Amino acid sequence: MLHTCCAPCATYVNETLEKEGWEVVNIFYNPNIHPFDEYIRRYETLVSYLEKEGRVLEVPFPYNPLEYFSLITQPENRCPSCYFLRLQKVAQWGKERGFNFFTTTLTISPYQDLPAIWKVGKQIGEKLDIEFLIRDFRDGFRQSVARSKELGLYRQNYCGCVFSKYEGVRRRLEKRLTGLKFS
Ligand code: SF4
Repeated sequence: MLHTCCAPCATYVNETLEKEGWEVVNIFYNPNIHPFDEYIRRYETLVSYLEKEGRVLEVPFPYNPLEYFSLITQPENRCPSCYFLRLQKVAQWGKERGFNFFTTTLTISPYQDLPAIWKVGKQIGEKLDIEFLIRDFRDGFRQSVARSKELGLYRQNYCGCVFSKYEGVRRRLEKRLTGLKFS
C-alpha cells in the first residue's frame, strides 16, 4: 500500500516498486493540502495519471482539513505530526484490509525530512503490526520531474499546507517587496 501525495511523485515510485516485484495499491489521504481547489487539482491529476496506467486510486476518506489543523500547534515543527496523521490513517486502513506492507511517495522529495518519516512510519508499523518499508526514493526525484513534464502533469510548487504555501510565496517575494514586513 503506497500512501501517495501526488501524481509527479507517484510516477517514479510506482514504477520503481513494480520493477522490484511489488503489487502497488495507491491511496490518497492528504488533509494537509490547502486550499481545497489545490487538493482537487492534485487529486484529479493523480486519478488521470493512474487511469492511463490502468490503475485505480483508493480514496477512502473525505477531505477534512480540520484533521490537519487540529494536530498542528507549532507550525515550525509541523511536519512530523503531518506525517503521523497521514501514515497512521492509511496504515490502519490497510491493516483492516489485509495489507502486509506500506510506504509513502513522500521520500522521493529532497525537501522532506526523511528520518522523521522513517521514524514515524516505523512506530506506526510496530503499533499496528504492518511493516513500513523504509525507502529513500530521492535518486528518482529528477526523473520524476522529467517524467511529469513529458506527461504534462500538474506539478505543484509547494508541499501542501497553508504554511508551506506562505513560506514559498514569501521566499519569492521578500527580495522584491522590501517595504512589506513578513512574520
Ligand atoms: S510542509 Fe508538507 S509535510 Fe510539512 S506540514 Fe506542511 S504539508 Fe505537511
